[in-house]
Order: sequence, then C-alpha cells, then structure tokens
Amino acid sequence: MIPSRTEESGRGVDKPAPGHSIGGMSESAPVNPADAGIEAQTHFVRHRNVLLARANLTDLFVDFHLHLADHRIEVTETHGTLFKRALAAFVLHQVSRPWNEMTAWTLHFQEPRVNVFLTSDNETGAITGRIFDEHVKDMPENLFFADVVVPRKPKRRSMVPFAGADPLAALETFYAQSEQRVGRVFDLGGDRFALAAEHPDCDVAWLRGLAAGDLSALDATETLALLEKRIYRWHCGCNQARMLEVLAPTFKADPEDLFGGGETVEIRCPRCGARHTVTREALEAEVARG
Ligand SMILES: [Zn+2]
Repeated sequence: MIPSRTEESGRGVDKPAPGHSIGGMSESAPVNPADAGIEAQTHFVRHRNVLLARANLTDLFVDFHLHLADHRIEVTETHGTLFKRALAAFVLHQVSRPWNEMTAWTLHFQEPRVNVFLTSDNETGAITGRIFDEHVKDMPENLFFADVVVPRKPKRRSMVPFAGADPLAALETFYAQSEQRVGRVFDLGGDRFALAAEHPDCDVAWLRGLAAGDLSALDATETLALLEKRIYRWHCGCNQARMLEVLAPTFKADPEDLFGGGETVEIRCPRCGARHTVTREALEAEVARG
C-alpha cells in the first residue's frame, strides 16, 4: 500500500501492485447483461491453419472513457492511447483462449514510464484495467507479465521482455517468446483490430507475410470457418465490500497510518482505479468480523 494525500478526503490509498489482482475476492457486483459490450469473433483460416480473431473496439473505448470521467481519473493522451491499444490486444488474445480462463496482464513500459494493467474473466466477458503512472519502478527493460487462472489448477505466470512502446508489437513478442508460436496483431483503422495466430501445421510463411491491407479481403480470398462470437463488457465489479477486504490487512497493521486522524479514506480500486470512500467505522466492523 502506498497511501497518498488526495484533495477530496484528506488521505487516500492507492495500490500500484500489478499482476495479482485476479480472482480470489468473493463479493463483487455481477456483469449486467443489458450492457451492450462489444462482440469479438474468431474464425479458423482453413488450409493456412491460422486462428483469426477480430473485433471493433469502439464501444469498449467509449466505456473506458466514461469510466475515467465517472471517477475523475486523468490520463495523458499518450497513456490513454497506449491503454486502448493494450485493451485491443487483450480482447483479441482473450477471445482466442478457452472459456474458463481468468487472465491478468501487466505491461511495464520504460518510455513512457507507465504500467498498464488489464484483467478479464472469459466466463463472463468482464474486462477492465487501469493505468499506473505514479511510483512506477525503473526497470532494466519493458516487461510483459501474464497471469492465467484456470479452475483447480495453480496460477500460471509468464514474463517476457519486449521492445518499444506499442502493445500490439508487445503481444507479437509475447506469442513468439512465451507461447512459442507466431502471432500477428493488426490495427485495421477505425478502432478495428485483428490477431492471427499460428496453429499446428500452420502455413507460417503465409502468416508472416500477412499485411494489414490483406485482412479486409481475407473473407473473399481464404476459406474462413466461424468458431465463436463472444461479448466483452467493461466491468470490474468492485464495490464497498471488496474495498474493505483490500484495506483490512493495512488497517489491522496500522490504523492510525491509514486514517491519519480522519474518519474516511479514499481507496482506488487496484483493478480499475475507481474511487471508493471507506469509513473507519465500516473497516472496524470488517476487521471485527475477521
Ligand atoms: Zn474496480
């Protein structure tokens, strides 16, 4: 925990501890199926043996910006663009993965010095994340952390260094180094993105030679078989109960340090950055409950 003063409530708590805010918390608000979300599709490119994932991110980008406005979260244009490209890469990767996976990514960039955190539960299509632009560690290089949780199995973590400040290129490096296969990520313009990933017996030369301009013609030039359509919605599910869980250990250790004599503390959700105000009374009750 790194407590920091905020203008609103005197003291605040932020937790730039990426990579572990995945599952494990019991009480959260469920996804609202009435929220439109975005549709991501996967096709199998026959004879090339390539999995193609495609999505138009516009509505998810809008929801991200609404979330920022709702919680008075200010991000620079550079960081916002970086986040949205990472979100696009994340959706395309997730839709090509099994239903029962929960995934969290942290992309650490040295220049600009920023961490992008993303998390999603494929079961519900909930997807959220945040930008950490304060207290970001100086590291020797850019690093891509991916944590995957599958029911009844231990958490898998992979970590891959990457170059440059483009999340799409970072995902290509992740495929090459962590998944040991070719993955190509394309910005098709107009918030549309695509991922083409190698499957067994893939025509690798064809996949490597693909250009963004080829993608729009693919439905006509190749034989595509629809695999799945999935909906992803901007949704964290954080609420007062979860924030109490997050703060309880810090409060137990040093209540005075947390509240600094005040009656309330502002906490930013570690997953989505939403602002929550927690009272000392509520935290005392949470700790008493054990
Ligand atoms: Zn949240």
